[in-house]
Amino acid sequence: MAAKTERLGVRLRPHIKTHKCIEIGRMQVERGAAGITVSTLEEAAAFVEAGFNDLTWAFPIIINRLEEVRDLAQRATLRVLVDSVEAVRALEALATPLHVFMKVDCGYGRAGVEPTSSAALEIPRRLSESPTLRFDGLLTHSGHAYSAQGRDAMLAVAMEERDAVVGLAERLDAEGIETPQRSVGSTPAMSVAEDLEGITEARPGNYALYDQMQVALGSCEPADCAATVLTSVVSSHARGSVCDAGALALSKDRGLGEPSSDGRIYADYESGALEATAMLSGLSQEHGKLETRFPVGERLRILPNHSCLTVACFDRFFVLRGEKVVDEWRIHRER
Ligand code: PLP
Repeated sequence: MAAKTERLGVRLRPHIKTHKCIEIGRMQVERGAAGITVSTLEEAAAFVEAGFNDLTWAFPIIINRLEEVRDLAQRATLRVLVDSVEAVRALEALATPLHVFMKVDCGYGRAGVEPTSSAALEIPRRLSESPTLRFDGLLTHSGHAYSAQGRDAMLAVAMEERDAVVGLAERLDAEGIETPQRSVGSTPAMSVAEDLEGITEARPGNYALYDQMQVALGSCEPADCAATVLTSVVSSHARGSVCDAGALALSKDRGLGEPSSDGRIYADYESGALEATAMLSGLSQEHGKLETRFPVGERLRILPNHSCLTVACFDRFFVLRGEKVVDEWRIHRER
């Protein structure tokens, strides 16, 4: 991804919510990432404590946590997000210098101002005229790339994302408001984007680990996926077997990719070969159901559907070289 963003002429600001792990964040910075993106203040605090000094909290600002924002902004460059005039007012009342992005909805339909709305002009104007706030620019997320069917549809979403931001930046320019940063990014959109003219940075996150959903979408191959869950078969019978990786190990999130199972199983991790038919077919809290009969005690390596949600079920990664555990890395679910 570092090579790709360099080729496209945009800075890479990876979303670390995928791994919540200082060691992986450092590897991303060593490979050229210009800052990081976080989704919670807990992630922000953990990474600031570890010395990361340029972070975007890519979540609509939570106005009852502004004291924590003020504290972090004194220790690092913390860029926050608004998509309402109410949030801008709350930040003005905080009277602290802050970098602020406006979140734009590029078609995903989750958070963000509609680019043709009056708020899309009013919020940047207020930010750029504020004595304490600094308008960093426009930020959007193409989460709808996950439901795009096929490469062409995914590319269309990536271009829709780019055009939403660039189009609004031009509108702001005509009003005399400068948009220093134009930030886009999801892993599927970045896997197909070939022209990001007018964009300054990308924030994909999932690519650091990938998962079955990205395989189904065509963003990567099973051999590219880095996070797996090791489980033991605990029960075996005529209907199939049960392993000790249930919903609290894998999460119930099947993502929006093509959910055909609750997790695939590696036949051979090194070559990326997956079992053709054996897969998880149901999850309860601690039980993972398999329709294939495996012997009790057999260990299975599962490729999760959505690595971001799976990782958030655990406190640490076991780092492997071949079959050998060479390190343990903390997952910062809390600071
Ligand atoms: N930016 C924002 C605001 C997000 O919510 C996300 C993911 O949810 C990302 C970037 C990264 O996208 P992905 O997980 O597809 O890499």
